[in-house]
Amino acid sequence: MELILKGDESGWWVVSHGNQIWLPQGELPQGTAAQWDLQNFRARQIGEWQGVLVWLVSRSMTDSMGSVRQLLSQDAGLFHLAGRGVQLAEFYRSHRFCGYCGHEMHTSTTELACLCSHCKERYYPQIAPCVIVAIQHQDKILLAQHLRHRGNMYTTLAGFVEVGETLEQAVAREVMEESHVHVKNLRYVCSQPWPFPHSLMMAFMAEYAGGELQADPSELRDAAWFRYDRLPELPPPGTVARRLIEDTVVLCREADD
Ligand SMILES: [Zn+2]
Repeated sequence: MELILKGDESGWWVVSHGNQIWLPQGELPQGTAAQWDLQNFRARQIGEWQGVLVWLVSRSMTDSMGSVRQLLSQDAGLFHLAGRGVQLAEFYRSHRFCGYCGHEMHTSTTELACLCSHCKERYYPQIAPCVIVAIQHQDKILLAQHLRHRGNMYTTLAGFVEVGETLEQAVAREVMEESHVHVKNLRYVCSQPWPFPHSLMMAFMAEYAGGELQADPSELRDAAWFRYDRLPELPPPGTVARRLIEDTVVLCREADD
């Protein structure tokens, strides 16, 4: 439920607009609305974290607007919480009118949804499933430099799941398209909400099954097999890619013994 802040409301404050989040001094604000001069703004509760309410204020501030990425090196729970807020702010902003009949919509008081009172359509936030996979071959791991990443970082292969595809099929297709390699022995590891802008990363480990490595130039700058003790620059800690690489390094080291 949305309300107008009086000042005494307390909790974490996700102030967000256009995929940006308010991070004064680089941190997510916590405390009372008055303490952060948020009185008279509209806000809604979007959950709790560590027993403290989380509020969403869908607006931009004049300074200190940044990316949720800045919270990646901090607590994982805080990162997910902020990512949830940013995605909900964008969901509400992009669902003011019904896509079927064009009438103005209102937000549900019972769930995270937008409702059309004219044609009764119900809309939920979009989540884009994405597979990410670390591929092991004996004491080596396949890593690639993606065109969409800046710098010299090498990471695992990843891609969006297509309509009508299983996760297993998505992994096999993405790996084949990007590297011309076949994989086998696919194992699910974990998942991570990735709010850029609304992905859910599903992480797998796999083994090399055949094929000659050849990087797809439309997606990758380079792809190569790296021995576990001679790794290039890797993605930062806190990312699911980093965890996959570290888990695979353990297997590579065992294979080398
Ligand atoms: Zn409608």
